[in-house]
Amino acid sequence: MAATRTGWDEMGAKSFSLMDEKARCAVQRAIIGFEKDEENHWVARLECGHGQHVRHDPPWTVREWVTTEEGRASRLGVKLDCKKCEEPGQG
Ligand SMILES: [Zn+2]
Repeated sequence: MAATRTGWDEMGAKSFSLMDEKARCAVQRAIIGFEKDEENHWVARLECGHGQHVRHDPPWTVREWVTTEEGRASRLGVKLDCKKCEEPGQG
């Protein structure tokens, strides 16, 4: 059974370990609301009190949902990585 070890298995194992690593580093915070900054960009307010930009800036960042009230409402409770919580003492 172990005789047919393909590169496929190795690729799978590698991507899994990368995912694990990312999950371990990320601090996930739920979105509790949205507000606009001074430049009229949308900022998600997270449960930890931090804000995170959720720009709709195609083609780089496509978040068409953020432009509608319905779309924003549908994202409440979704978790984002909070960079500020990942780096305590940085603000
Ligand atoms: Zn935070």
